[in-house]
Amino acid sequence: MTDTPFAAPTPTLLPIHQSDARFPVRRIYCVGRNYAEHAREMGHDPNREPPFFFTKPGDAATVSGRSLPFPPQTQNLHHEAELVVAIGGCGTDISPAEAEGLIWGYGAGNDLTRRDIQAKAKEMRRPWDMAKGFDHSAIIGALHAKDSLGDMTHGAIRATVNGDIRQSADLSEMIWPVDAVVAYLSRLVTLQPGDLVMTGTPAGVGQIKPGDTCAVEIEGLSPAVVSFR
Ligand code: MN
Repeated sequence: MTDTPFAAPTPTLLPIHQSDARFPVRRIYCVGRNYAEHAREMGHDPNREPPFFFTKPGDAATVSGRSLPFPPQTQNLHHEAELVVAIGGCGTDISPAEAEGLIWGYGAGNDLTRRDIQAKAKEMRRPWDMAKGFDHSAIIGALHAKDSLGDMTHGAIRATVNGDIRQSADLSEMIWPVDAVVAYLSRLVTLQPGDLVMTGTPAGVGQIKPGDTCAVEIEGLSPAVVSFR
């Protein structure tokens, strides 16, 4: 065994629905502006842009159900309800038709965003990393193996804060469907087992405050829930 100055970090292990197995997270890729109404609410024309991507560190993945300290350096933490694609194969430069073969399963996720830091970054033409990639910024519900699910190209997606509905849409409203997103991404990077792809959020993003509980629910999947102290 190789000598190291400290224990090698272990990946975040996500629960798998109806299984004792765990899904080890490698990288987290996220799609920007993949629902027309959300693109409009953020001031963009949804018809002109191919998908674009940003990332979160793999260890930002946080299992559903935790109570967390409120993230530092923000007065405007936002929820973003998203379908999460869990990658189980390896692929570079694949076609949308080949994408299905790389997908292991799906989950519900919350792409937590420090919107005030993001707004400043946009204004200053600086990177989004500290707006999007902070500790515990990707809340992920238990993953479901694709074999156990129906067609995930449609189905209700919503976010609630303290039980009040804030986002409510359908997966079929995505501008770029999952197979196209995975294919596009595979042209930029080699996708590998353990990668997660957060596929964008519908309209209605809004604030979470200390003391709030936020749940992302997608038809057929386990919810992604987080509370902030
Ligand atoms: Mn997002």
